Amino acid sequence: MSDEPSAQLRTFLPEFRWEGVENRPYKEEGSAPFRAIARQVLFTEEGLDCELRYFEMAAGGYSTLERHEHMHGVMILRGRGHCLLGDEVRAVKPFDLVTIPAWTWHQFRASEGEPLGFLCMVNRERDRPQLPSEAELAALKSVPEVAAFLAG
Ligand code: MN
Repeated sequence: MSDEPSAQLRTFLPEFRWEGVENRPYKEEGSAPFRAIARQVLFTEEGLDCELRYFEMAAGGYSTLERHEHMHGVMILRGRGHCLLGDEVRAVKPFDLVTIPAWTWHQFRASEGEPLGFLCMVNRERDRPQLPSEAELAALKSVPEVAAFLAG
């Protein structure tokens, strides 16, 4: 019985924080493929096969450009920005839903002057993300919209 998750209510706090949830800024080193992004893991219980995380980028920040076998289900919660989905760039706003299938290149970017926050649902057990090779990056940039998106 003691291994079972306990029932709990964790209150929503100002500035998109939740009671009892650690806010983990990503460490930015020289070649970091992301910028100004922090993560809060909202649900990671053993009785669930998925996790729910909240990611937030400061204005002008962006997530890692990556792909992997596992899927993401994303709901935008805060701010404005754009996302790359394969070879498409789409504007996003609060409560939009974004489905990211397996092996689809993806990246989120906050607009200048606005943060971008979203919920991301993901399998608890999942493969490690892949970053694009030089050739894959060049292929992505062959689409002008994508090149402009990646240039920020
Ligand atoms: Mn991902």
